[in-house]
Amino acid sequence: MAVLSSEAVVLRTWPVHEADLIVSFFTRDYGRVKGVAKSALKSRKRFGGALEPMTVAKALFAERPRQELVRLDQLEIIRSPLAGPVDHARMAVLSFYAEMLDECLPEHDPQETVFRLLLSVLEQTSAVGAESAESGAVQPWMALTYFSLWMTRLMGLLPDVAHCMVCNEELRPGEVSFSAYADGLFCALHRNGSGHALSADSWQLAQRMLRAPASAFAGEAWPRRRGQDLRRFTLQALERHLERKLRTAEALGRLGG
Ligand SMILES: [Zn+2]
Repeated sequence: MAVLSSEAVVLRTWPVHEADLIVSFFTRDYGRVKGVAKSALKSRKRFGGALEPMTVAKALFAERPRQELVRLDQLEIIRSPLAGPVDHARMAVLSFYAEMLDECLPEHDPQETVFRLLLSVLEQTSAVGAESAESGAVQPWMALTYFSLWMTRLMGLLPDVAHCMVCNEELRPGEVSFSAYADGLFCALHRNGSGHALSADSWQLAQRMLRAPASAFAGEAWPRRRGQDLRRFTLQALERHLERKLRTAEALGRLGG
């Protein structure tokens, strides 16, 4: 039985049997993996706080013959989401990353680009530069917007954002719209009756974010409403693809995210 080792991010856990936990975790080298953490509920010491979703850790696990679940032996924390300031908005955003990845990623399929995206947004979600002047609380809206946009792109769900989906004409800021029922963006002429406007700022953001790393946007002001329509556009595309609503997206919506 080979013991494997990989950098990983914990996505979700749920109890099984008396004291065991099933852990869904996203490894850099093997993709998303599900495993059993034996006695994790009984012996808290063994995994410490490492089973908190969005913990970055070095995972040691063993594949077992004729078993779907690996045996998760150890998680050595590299970075804990609880190390930074904890507030409602930030926890809701971290839960959203976890649910999105748990739903989108096939098992045992390495996704290096998604893994790097996740590490970069995790850093930005708790970055000091993201603190708002008035409350001192971490504002995770930039990282959330960046993650949603890039997940849509990496899942192959984001058509050209510079041109109208129908006529292929170049879009103009302030005249761009999207629909809950169709992919892509539309010009003023082809705006759907039930369409929503995508603000000039959000449309330009989308184009800039597809060309630059998340850290490039950290110095900008990010009130909660900024990019809200862009997040809605990408979330609709992802939820159409998943054919279900994300529970954590509803929680974010209640926070105004
Ligand atoms: Zn058009």
